[in-house]
Amino acid sequence: MAPYSKLSKEKLKNLKSDLEKQFEEIKKKGLHLDMSRGKPSKAQLDIGIGMMDVLTSESDLVSSDGVDCRNYGVLDGISDARKLLADLSEVPERSVIIYGNSSLNVMFDTMSRAMTHGFMGSTPWGRLDHVKFLCPVPGYDRHFAITEFFGIEMINVPLLETGPDMDMVEELVAKDPLIKGIWCVPKYSNPTGISYSDETVRRFARLKPAAKDFRIFWDNAYSIHHLYDDKRVVVLELLNECIKVGNPDIVIKFISTSKVSFPGSGIAALAASRGNLEDARRYMKYQTIGHDKLNQLRHVRYFKDMLGVYEHMRKHAAILRPKFEKVDEVLTKELGGLGIGTWTKPLGGYFISFDSMEGCAKAIVAKAKEAGLVMTDAGATYPYGKDPKDCNIRIAPSFPTVEELEIASKIFVLSVKLVSIEKLLNA
Ligand code: PMP
Repeated sequence: MAPYSKLSKEKLKNLKSDLEKQFEEIKKKGLHLDMSRGKPSKAQLDIGIGMMDVLTSESDLVSSDGVDCRNYGVLDGISDARKLLADLSEVPERSVIIYGNSSLNVMFDTMSRAMTHGFMGSTPWGRLDHVKFLCPVPGYDRHFAITEFFGIEMINVPLLETGPDMDMVEELVAKDPLIKGIWCVPKYSNPTGISYSDETVRRFARLKPAAKDFRIFWDNAYSIHHLYDDKRVVVLELLNECIKVGNPDIVIKFISTSKVSFPGSGIAALAASRGNLEDARRYMKYQTIGHDKLNQLRHVRYFKDMLGVYEHMRKHAAILRPKFEKVDEVLTKELGGLGIGTWTKPLGGYFISFDSMEGCAKAIVAKAKEAGLVMTDAGATYPYGKDPKDCNIRIAPSFPTVEELEIASKIFVLSVKLVSIEKLLNA
């Protein structure tokens, strides 16, 4: 079909009444579908269920470095777990501290530490009148929520195919000492699925911010979450690049096994320079006598090493791939060539990012809800929930079954079409 913008008002009106009938039919079914959050499905959780059996009352609960994992102590985590998470973070074991069950919690904690104590001897951010943070957009709503919670002003930076707009990042951080950091999801980013180019990583390593305590919050949540084994993306390792150019303290890396083992019951880690780790330990020793070492042991015994992890991730990919492909198939068939939306075709991660015509996203999400389909709130992918063009919608295909996704995608495309026609008729 021709692009909607080329159709006469008459044609659009006829089309609209046709689509409205289809929409009413679907509405009558009283469906409850959810494409809102990047949650693994039950089938994915079942893959790792054997992990529940690796530790029993009969098990030897002493780690290979001689730690009785039932008892207090070992702030950094048991050596085998540090090794595993270091491999996952692509850094040496000495550059990693194991935390608790969630990397988001570590990010919150790191921001909180910067506010109350400052990084490596600098003035706590909370004592300054004003602090700003760069936020590549579209991005992850929970990053923005943490930043907003601490009263830090967020500045949008466009996320390009190669990563954040580095010309803008370099210029802003060089001139404004109130800009203290930037959020980054370097691989299969949430929600666009893009991965940073080598050039972007090198420019981050060489960044010269006016604020000496500027930190890159490098959230590598999707580091091994490939959808296609033969199209694995490799992102240059940032900590090593920073060390090479004499800028080791500028980055703090976050990682977890949430979407590897069990979300909320995995293990999380922070990777950084020696100075940053010492700083983190000074704070952590007041917070806890040690994190959950039995869970660390469970992960190590189950996965053994990165080969075990990769094998496991292939099983996740086998479940996720048909879901991403189903959504793409319906979108391509129903919206291809109509000029009312574009969407990403990610090689990994958990999301498809959809851009509607300007000023339509909120209405599309509301329309889909009428037919029982819950999407992520429009605007959520921007700081303060404000998408200046009201066009970005995050699609999360992981949780529903392929059959449910087919229906959900149909409701979504019908909603896109109806809202776009309305917009064109009122133009
Ligand atoms: N970072 C990103 C970019 C995410 O998409 C998610 C999960 N949706 C998280 C962090 C949460 O990680 P965790 O479960 O380790 O807190």
